Amino acid sequence: MSPYLASFMTGSVEVVCGPMFSGKTEELIRRVRRAQIAKQKIQIFKPALDDRYHETKVVSHSSQSVAATPVNSAVDILKRIYDSTRIVAIDEVQFFDENIIKVVNKLSRRGVRVILAGLDQDYKGEPFGPMPHLMAIADDVTKVKAVCTSCGAPASKTHRKSTDNSDQVLVGEADLYEARCTAHWDYQPDDEDLLAFSTNIEAQEGSMTEVQI
Ligand SMILES: [Zn+2]
Repeated sequence: MSPYLASFMTGSVEVVCGPMFSGKTEELIRRVRRAQIAKQKIQIFKPALDDRYHETKVVSHSSQSVAATPVNSAVDILKRIYDSTRIVAIDEVQFFDENIIKVVNKLSRRGVRVILAGLDQDYKGEPFGPMPHLMAIADDVTKVKAVCTSCGAPASKTHRKSTDNSDQVLVGEADLYEARCTAHWDYQPDDEDLLAFSTNIEAQEGSMTEVQI
């Protein structure tokens, strides 16, 4: 095998993440299109639960789309991969179970370029599902920003308009969510959490020892 071919077959993991309305799916589609122009065999997946726009397509907010296979679990992706596939793109990857990490590792070790797009944080600002792990093992992470609906600044947070439902997964669109900057993202942790946090800092400061240089 020539050195060129060997390097060509090196697998990799790319993560595109950010809040809602930040263009994650658009960026995924842009990378997929470039691979299609280069005539590389590519397969695209998305979780079956995300049926906001179309069951068998990945559609961005700006209505760009590519054909995608909906799957019920991470392992279903492995079952559907063809030997000739060189690139695997997965949208809304935050909705998958923890097995997605093994699946992504397996694919990249097999020489596949894996492109993942997903929400890095939920509406409470907590890391979303398998995203922290995937971002850690990725060769490349791109954080994209939306625009704050309140002030127009770059937005890295997702604001849930209704507080009626506190489930982490509540699939919706502009009816339920807005992008916000940190200043205008009005999610407040409980006071009890804040108190516990400040007590912890005091305890840590009390036990600090000086370091001699
Ligand atoms: Zn703002």
